[in-house]
Amino acid sequence: MPTPTVLSQRAEALKPSLTLEIGARAKALRNEGRDICSLSAGEPDFDTPAFIVDAARKALDDGITRYGPAAGDPELRAAVAEKLSTENGIPTRPSQVLITNGGKQAIFNLFQVLLNPGDEVLIPAPFWLSYPDMAALAGARSVVIASNPEEGFRLDLAELESRITERTRLLVLNTPGNPTGRVMSRAELEALAELVRRHPRLLVMSDEIYEFLLAEGQEHHSFAALAPDLAERCFTVNGFAKGWAMTGWRIGYLAGDETVIKAASALQSQSTSNVCSFAQRGALAALLGKRDCVIEMAESYNRRRTLLTEGLQAIDEITLLPPQGAFYAFPQLPPRINDSMKFCRRALDDAGLAVVPGVAFGADRCIRLSCAVSDETIMDGLGRLERLLRTP
Ligand code: PLP
Repeated sequence: MPTPTVLSQRAEALKPSLTLEIGARAKALRNEGRDICSLSAGEPDFDTPAFIVDAARKALDDGITRYGPAAGDPELRAAVAEKLSTENGIPTRPSQVLITNGGKQAIFNLFQVLLNPGDEVLIPAPFWLSYPDMAALAGARSVVIASNPEEGFRLDLAELESRITERTRLLVLNTPGNPTGRVMSRAELEALAELVRRHPRLLVMSDEIYEFLLAEGQEHHSFAALAPDLAERCFTVNGFAKGWAMTGWRIGYLAGDETVIKAASALQSQSTSNVCSFAQRGALAALLGKRDCVIEMAESYNRRRTLLTEGLQAIDEITLLPPQGAFYAFPQLPPRINDSMKFCRRALDDAGLAVVPGVAFGADRCIRLSCAVSDETIMDGLGRLERLLRTP
């Protein structure tokens, strides 16, 4: 008799992704010939700008195809350090930067090197869905801080502080935020820094992967820049995926205290080694190049975010505070609907509309819609949603 496969407790505890379930179902229905409208995308609908592709192609032609330093190419680490120092206001040395396989690996590595079993991670909801699973993979426990759609998902600092215990180790911030599109103001971040000062054991990770995608009038502030006295306790995560339309390239970075960066680099050297060598050359070109392409794409999301926002606000029973950044809207469903997964399955089966259930982000009264699609797809999706809500 064959020996049954026994998975580790770690693997057993991993939850299948709800977003993948909706995606797989949408694909199956499309294959059956159904007309499916998807507003579920979590990535830019643009191609990577040509000068970046050219730089990677040239790197291939130049034979940049071998192993490199696990922490990343020195040129790219230096360019990231320069960007963080001058653009974000976070004084950073190249040795404080680790180049990772996307923002995702930056977060994963950070959690692995900072968290011990039993530690607690404070995660404001709605949250990007990988944070709790990554915390669990490090043996830590997520402490979710709920917020209210009616109050624009504002983080309640008193509530946050009341949840800090002697086991609390890390606070996760994400601005502009996925899924809400909320941008944390300077005043809000400064108040948070005050709170962090009162708790000397507390570390902060700020995920700023949507930093360039800001609605008109919004400003991005890096937490670490507003609290230079907390530099040793602040870690910044970012990447090239969203701003430069480079999701498939898998390049992100982690910046912060050198000892932690060294540990994360050691972890990387024993797991994935360096990020794809010629892809790093593309990322370097992106950083050193003109920002026109980033600005143009951000303007396009702005126009489409407005289209989506106004369309949602015009639907009876839907409540939405306009997103201030990223490329999502996260409206609240009517009170009679309290199971977002059930609603999204019905949206797909009955209306051919693929959207992401809020429960995946810790907010079961909401759904996430993306505006990283064409105007026609946005209008089609809005029509389908409205008709679905009118059908009992
Ligand atoms: N952080 C947030 C908030 C995200 O939405 C994503 C991707 O969707 C990531 C990090 C990871 O991005 P990357 O593709 O660079 O791994």
